[in-house]
Amino acid sequence: MMLLLLVLLLVGNMTMFTSIELCVAAAIPDNSNDTVCTTETTITSEQILGYTRDWRLITRAEWAARIPTSISNFTGPAPYVILHHSYQPGVCRTLDACKAAMRSMQNYHMDGHGWTDIGYSFAVGGDGNVYEGRGYEVIGAHAPNYNSRSIGLLLIGNFMDELPPAPMLDVAQDFIKYSVESGHLRKDYILHGHRQVRSTECPGNALYAEIRMWPHWQKS
Ligand SMILES: [Zn+2]
Repeated sequence: MMLLLLVLLLVGNMTMFTSIELCVAAAIPDNSNDTVCTTETTITSEQILGYTRDWRLITRAEWAARIPTSISNFTGPAPYVILHHSYQPGVCRTLDACKAAMRSMQNYHMDGHGWTDIGYSFAVGGDGNVYEGRGYEVIGAHAPNYNSRSIGLLLIGNFMDELPPAPMLDVAQDFIKYSVESGHLRKDYILHGHRQVRSTECPGNALYAEIRMWPHWQKS
C-alpha cells in the first residue's frame, strides 16, 4: 500500500490526486452518486469530461486579474473562434511568467485602451496551460463585428516568423475541442485568424499558415 502511494505521488498528477481525496470526502455526507464530487472541487475541465487532458484552466483569480469595470453577457454557443497572437508579450514558458503576461495585457487593455477588461476570451501560454480571459460568459473585445459571436483565443507570443512551440498548438486545438464538448462552441463552428475579419497582421504569418490546416478553418 505504501509503495502504491509512493508511486502515485511520484508519477501522478498532484492536482488529480488531491481532487480524488476531496471527492471521497465530499461523497460521504450525502448519498448521491459519484458525479456530485466534481461540483465539490474546483478542479478541472478534464474531470468534468471524464478523461485526462494535459492542460489546466488557470482562472482569473489564479493570475490575479483586476475586476472588470463592466460586463456584457455572452449568449452561446459561439459560432466562431477568432485566433490571435499577442505580438507582445513574447512566449511565456512558466506559470508565473504567463500569469504576469496576462496581467500586463489586462493593464494595457484597461489603462491604455480604456477597455473594461482584458480583451480576449482565453489565452494559451507557452507553459501549456489555458488562461481565462473574459471567459465564455462575457462578450470580448478582440475582433469588432465578431465579439458577440466568437470565442477570442489568444496564443501568447509573436508568431510572425516562427510557429508557437508545438505543445501550444496542441493545447489550443484541444481547448477548441473542449469548448465544443462543453457546449460553449457550436459543433459546426468556423475558425478564422484575426486578419480575416479586420486589417491586421495578427495572428502572424507563421501561425496563420498553420491554422489554415486546422479543422473548421474557413476562407472569409
Ligand atoms: Zn488579433
